[in-house]
Amino acid sequence: PTDNTPEQICILGATGSIGTSTLDVIRRHPERYQVFALTANRNLEQIKHQCVEFHPTYAVLLDSKLAHELQSYVEEKELDTIVLHGAEHLDYVASHQSVDTVMAAIVGAAGLMPTLAAAKAGKKILLANKEALVMSGAIFMDAVKKHGATLLPIDSEHNAIFQCLPEHFVEQGIEKCGIHNIVLTGSGGPFLNKDLSEFSSITPEQACAHPNWDMGRKISVDSATMMNKGLELIEACWLFDVEPAQIEVVLHPQSIIHSMVRYNDGSVLAQMGNPDMRTPIAHAMAFPERIEAGVKPLDFMEISQLTFDRPAKERYPCLLLASEAMELGGNSPARLNAANEVAVEAFLDGKIGFTQISELIQQTLTSTRYAEASTLEAVLDADKQAREYAQQLVEQMTI
Ligand code: NAD
Ligand code: MG
Repeated sequence: PTDNTPEQICILGATGSIGTSTLDVIRRHPERYQVFALTANRNLEQIKHQCVEFHPTYAVLLDSKLAHELQSYVEEKELDTIVLHGAEHLDYVASHQSVDTVMAAIVGAAGLMPTLAAAKAGKKILLANKEALVMSGAIFMDAVKKHGATLLPIDSEHNAIFQCLPEHFVEQGIEKCGIHNIVLTGSGGPFLNKDLSEFSSITPEQACAHPNWDMGRKISVDSATMMNKGLELIEACWLFDVEPAQIEVVLHPQSIIHSMVRYNDGSVLAQMGNPDMRTPIAHAMAFPERIEAGVKPLDFMEISQLTFDRPAKERYPCLLLASEAMELGGNSPARLNAANEVAVEAFLDGKIGFTQISELIQQTLTSTRYAEASTLEAVLDADKQAREYAQQLVEQMTI
């Protein structure tokens, strides 16, 4: 955009936790940002309110019946919003020529195709949807490079790492920048101190009650198993072009340090802040400038202490499964992600227990086929195979 026209934003997953936080940042800077498109799965009531407040050019719902209802609503409110439905229209708005920036905040594999469409259209992509990158890392990063897209991380850890890296790291690579390693911090989730013998009776409500962050249900369960940290490890490998061995995972229960970069001279740079996703969202939206995000200033007297620990293998088997999958490479991360999505959904539906999540993923990984993942077809095929296998396991398992 030129200096005085607002940046046109497409929000994929507008009704979710990241989507609504993004709209809150936009609300604070109406002169700077304009909502071009909002998309959602099925949350009709919320997207109605969002259309009234933000006047998007397009609104896309996955479901045709709900889209029809939204259509009647925008007509009744005399809004100019064009209502579309179906997954192909997610790709359409994400790659639309009028769009400058795409917030990729759909949860899970469903976010892959529209995020890839944005990359192929050379957009500025604010990436929250880590599953897309985990599935298709090589293909996605190639598309970004080939089509001149800009990729900025929204995940708080990756945004922190990005802030702690020198500007030229993209061209020079981590090693030439004098970097020793990356320290990925994680809170350890709600079961950091829970007795291991009680893990099998953990309920979805307990798993979704994260101590520091208010997030969607899928990522909340991922945080409880620490699969989230595992997916983030894979995400970091692709974003910053490093190996799993160059990443150290550290437990930091207060979630004040969002991650760190360790340099060869002994310096460690950390990015800190209250656990509020509006900080990384505002950072990426305004980059390289800085804007107000509505986040409470960090009060050091109130925090009083920051602590660190090692994640125990017995407590967090999913973390190990993820780093093994990344080391194996090929379609392993895609199969890991698919099995995890099936397992988490089954857990949230009360079909399997908490400890069965990692069992199901492990079994799926050993029983489905390793292959290269250099084409999109191969990635989608791995995703499908692993999903089908994991779904069969769900049917066989008893709580
Ligand atoms: P959420 O469940 O709150 O929201 C998900 C959004 O995606 C909703 O708008 C929903 O309508 C849409 N959606 C769901 N399934 C869809 C489908 N099949 N097709 C199209 N749209 C669909 O999730 P969230 O917590 O906002 O997380 C979104 C993404 O951001 C995830 O990949 C998550 O890992 C990542 N992330 C979230 C946080 C956080 O604090 N919430 C932090 C870091 C990363
Ligand atoms: Mg994170």
